[in-house]
Amino acid sequence: MSTELWYTERYEEHGAALSLKIREVLHREQSPYQNIEIFETEQFGTLMTLDGLVMVTDRDNFLYHEMMSHPALFTHPAPKRVLIIGGGDCGTLREVLRHREVEEAVQVELDERVTRVAERFFPELCENNQDPRARFHFTDGITWIKEAEAGRYDVIIIDSTDPVGPAAGLFATDFYAACHHALADQGVLVAQSESPLLHADLIRQCQSRMTEAGFDAVNSLYFPQFCYPSGWWSATLGRKGLAMDAFRIDAARAFTGTRYYHAAMQQAAQVAPAFLLP
Ligand code: SAM
Repeated sequence: MSTELWYTERYEEHGAALSLKIREVLHREQSPYQNIEIFETEQFGTLMTLDGLVMVTDRDNFLYHEMMSHPALFTHPAPKRVLIIGGGDCGTLREVLRHREVEEAVQVELDERVTRVAERFFPELCENNQDPRARFHFTDGITWIKEAEAGRYDVIIIDSTDPVGPAAGLFATDFYAACHHALADQGVLVAQSESPLLHADLIRQCQSRMTEAGFDAVNSLYFPQFCYPSGWWSATLGRKGLAMDAFRIDAARAFTGTRYYHAAMQQAAQVAPAFLLP
């Protein structure tokens, strides 16, 4: 009998699955919001799952975290005040705080336990958590954005779980409209928008809902992400107050030290596959 241990996330509706070979289970807990599990994998380092869905592995999270942060921050001419909704593993926050012009990065995560567990098992993702520019609030991002004052943020990043449960409202038109209200002129919104191969309708919906919510320009980014369904992921950007050249980046500010992101990669990532062209 085999003693091998594999973690498998099944995508039942697509008849597919992702499996990672596991060395051991490091942690399991039921938070007030979700089941949090941490595994030591054989080849992908530490793995975090929420309610049985893969969130982060050591080996490939740089793809997602760099693409959720740098394109939006380099699109904005002077991103001083940044809001992250979700993002409890703190990998996006770490990338945001690498931008010296950022004066304040506010993270609004529903589940404090995700952040506490990440601090213990993913210390490298949390290495900037003590930065005095970082502020943490553990509450619902939907309520937070509805109560935010007009023009409060330059960049808003929606680093959410899939559009089910408490994250469902993070994909709604009225939520995007509240983000639009909370953004200053020239502000940029970026939201994770799932897999181009498996969720093309959702990507189109994010684009049309952002437009309906008042964004002057909307565009998606496409990039690889091994551990998410299909291995191919997207983020959708909305720009306030600028329709022409809305996603031109200020390459002069681009920095080194990223593993996937660079200025030309951002331009390449903005090119949609033919089946997603308008
Ligand atoms: N990168 C991941 C992915 O795409 O699978 C998402 C990572 S991050 C851990 C997602 C976080 O969003 C979770 O920690 C979850 O608690 C948080 N979240 C879900 N709904 C939320 C809401 N309404 N307000 C704030 N945070 C929320």
